[in-house]
Amino acid sequence: MRLWALRGLRTQRDLTGFPRTLELAPGMTPGRPVDGPAAAADVCPTGALRAEGAATVVALDHCVHCQRCRHGGQPMHWREDIAWSHGEGAPLPRAFAHSIHVRVLDAGDCGACLAELQQLPAPQYSLHRLGIFITASPREADVLLVVGPVTRAMRQPLLDTYAAMPGPKRVVAVGACAASGGVFGPSFACAGGVADMLPVDRVVPGCPPPPLAVLEALLAVMGRSLPRAEDAP
Ligand code: SF4
Ligand code: SF4
Repeated sequence: MRLWALRGLRTQRDLTGFPRTLELAPGMTPGRPVDGPAAAADVCPTGALRAEGAATVVALDHCVHCQRCRHGGQPMHWREDIAWSHGEGAPLPRAFAHSIHVRVLDAGDCGACLAELQQLPAPQYSLHRLGIFITASPREADVLLVVGPVTRAMRQPLLDTYAAMPGPKRVVAVGACAASGGVFGPSFACAGGVADMLPVDRVVPGCPPPPLAVLEALLAVMGRSLPRAEDAP
C-alpha cells in the first residue's frame, strides 16, 4: 500500500490531466443531448426536450440521462464532454482563486450524486491538488454545494447552513434534483430546487453528474481558467 502510494505520487499515472488539458478518456462522462429533430422530444420522460419548429431544444436541468433520445428513431446529437455547468453568479474574489473550502449539504439525494462527489478526493481526480477542501463546518465554507431535491424537512437546515457561512459565499447546485427539483418536486415531500430558496451561482445538471463536471463548476466559481476544445491532447 505504501509503495503503491509513493509510486502514484511520483508518476501521477492515474491522475487526470484536467484542468491542464481536457479529459477525453472513455467512461469519464455519460455525455449529454445538445440538439436534434423535433420528433426526438416525444420520447423524453422528464420534459427536458421541447420541440421548437423543426428542432428540439434541451433543458438540461431536467435531463436524467436515460439516453432514450440518443438511441430512438430520431436521435438527438450527443456530446461527450464535462463542461455542463452554467450560472450567472460572479466568481469568488481573486483571493479565492487558489483555495476554497466547500460545505456539501445533502438535501435529500438518492445517493448517486453523493457517490459521484465521494470520488473527487480519490487519486484519479485529487481534489486537494487544486486547493479545494471539503469542510464539515459552514463557518469555514466559501462554497455551499447542494445535492438532491430540497425535501421539506431539509429546507430549514439548508437556509440555516447558508446563513452560517461568512461572505463572500457562493452556492452550487449539483444534479437535476438540486437544479430543478428533478422528478421529485415540488411535491408533498419536496420543496423544489435550490434556486427556489437560495441564490444559486452555478448549476451542474446531470443525474448524477460525473465528478469532473462538478470539478469544472468549482473551478469556474474560483475564477480559474478552464481548458478549451483546442487544448485537447
Ligand atoms: S437523455 Fe432522457 S431525460 Fe435526457 S433529454 Fe434525453 S430522453 Fe430526456
Ligand atoms: S439528480 Fe439523479 S442522481 Fe442526483 S439525487 Fe437526483 S435522482 Fe439522484
